[in-house]
Amino acid sequence: MEQNERIRCLIIGSGPAGYTAAIYASRANLSPVLYEGMQPGGQLTTTSDVENFPGYPEGISGFDMMEDLKKQAERFGANIRRGIATAVDFSQKPYRITIDGEKIIEADALIISTGASAKYLGLPDEVKYAGMGVSACATCDGFFYRKKIVAVVGGGDTACEEAEYLSHLASKVYLIVRKNFLRASNIMQRRVNENPNIEILFETQAEGLFGENGVEGVHLVKGKDTAHEERYDLPIDGFFLAIGHKPNTDIFKHSITLDENGYIVTAPHTTETNIEGVFAAGDVADPRYRQAITAAASGCKAAMDAERYLINNSL
Ligand code: NDP
Repeated sequence: MEQNERIRCLIIGSGPAGYTAAIYASRANLSPVLYEGMQPGGQLTTTSDVENFPGYPEGISGFDMMEDLKKQAERFGANIRRGIATAVDFSQKPYRITIDGEKIIEADALIISTGASAKYLGLPDEVKYAGMGVSACATCDGFFYRKKIVAVVGGGDTACEEAEYLSHLASKVYLIVRKNFLRASNIMQRRVNENPNIEILFETQAEGLFGENGVEGVHLVKGKDTAHEERYDLPIDGFFLAIGHKPNTDIFKHSITLDENGYIVTAPHTTETNIEGVFAAGDVADPRYRQAITAAASGCKAAMDAERYLINNSL
């Protein structure tokens, strides 16, 4: 049986938060080990171009950017590995983290940057048109739909924010809402209602997409399973999902304080969780901003918080 491995600073998750934490932690001589998780490089590897990360005047593909961050961390000695954290035990120090259900890492400090995953409807067409008109991030991809027609699915704050954001770029935004009301906050509802560029389609669900070389339209059903059920096709160029994100915190739900939506709670202005020596960075602890740049910044903070913790505790 494989022996436990003792590590000073373990990072789990590999988006901009995890890799940035690895850059800072390796430069601080913490000898970090990073496990890349389910989706090496994180959510950004599935977007096309990242054009809003400072320092890339021509933009960069999300995949290339993550590769660059990874190489930068490795240049300073970060040990980056394939593997998924499958269980944690914070009941004693050093903390024990199980990788791929078998290997046990004993870590003095842990940085959690496991990210969040956008929820999808589960339509086969979402997969078929991924990167060809289907997106779950208006801030990332909205720019490609200037003067085009787009639809946003969802009726919460995210959907309203995305619709509002897209309304300044696209010629027309449809908001597809399955109920006959918006769940979003009053202020967001008002903004959407008063925006002449946004048309809300209540009691409407998307059942599929169509198009030759990308999305050209959506199959809709209004009043599904009612006497006035109506099916029709709506021409659109972009289909945005905004039905919520799910933070990747399942393995922590019994051991760390999460908010009501499952995000890790951190102490104000720090990356500290309620467990001493365990820090959280990026989307896993951020329901609000969810940007590559904010995730990278919090990865930096987490490494600095971990370094201070290790020094203060002579670890
Ligand atoms: P929410 O869970 O609040 O809303 C999700 C929306 O998607 C709902 O309208 C829901 O419909 C709809 N939906 C879910 N599943 C499906 C489906 N299968 N088919 C069709 N529609 C579906 O998620 P949000 O991401 O909007 O918000 C999450 C949290 O973050 C909230 O607390 C929100 O207030 C907060 N937030 C705050 C912001 C801010 O303060 N600036 C910005 C963004 C989010 P239904 O209502 O029928 O369930």
